[in-house]
Amino acid sequence: MNSTIAYEAEFCSKEWDEKIHRNKPSKRIMVLDTSAFLAGFDPLAVNEEQITVPNVQEEIRSNSMTALRFGTAVENGKLRIKAPDGESLNKAKSAANSVGDSYYLSETDTQLLALSLELKSAGYDPQIISDDYSIQNVAAKMGIDFAALATFGIRRLLEWVRYCPACHKEYAADAGAATCMVCGTQLKRKPRRTTKNLKSTS
Ligand SMILES: [Zn+2]
Repeated sequence: MNSTIAYEAEFCSKEWDEKIHRNKPSKRIMVLDTSAFLAGFDPLAVNEEQITVPNVQEEIRSNSMTALRFGTAVENGKLRIKAPDGESLNKAKSAANSVGDSYYLSETDTQLLALSLELKSAGYDPQIISDDYSIQNVAAKMGIDFAALATFGIRRLLEWVRYCPACHKEYAADAGAATCMVCGTQLKRKPRRTTKNLKSTS
């Protein structure tokens, strides 16, 4: 889909970047992670403004139904795509380090946390929508609000698997290692769909 590239160009524009920095105080904005989209969260079904990072768009690209819903929400101006600034990224990384969750966070997770920080410093009231325990943990540490997908009646839990991109060995999502025990390669993370029921966090 070539059109998705056009969305990025349009919605990651400098203009929008500036717009979020001169905004009304405490405007609620939802920060959506990959699991939200893959679990069936529909941006058009909620009133709040919503935002995500370019990496999330990358991660959902293989799921055509989800990518279509995503694209429609971007076209309608309901969902924005923005990469966090470097300063926020550094702050998110040190928060993750200080709670010991940095191993469990993907680059995408860290970007979502950083974007939330950036929005907060711009006067927004960000709420991260994620079922990922590490994201929630670091968000809490940074004083950022979060909600699990069950809040929106979504019961399909996305499960993450960690895997070695070199030798393909799989690890549990909460495995403590950042690198493969067999070959030493940096582990990656991918979603695995399940139909497990969610426990509500609130
Ligand atoms: Zn390996």
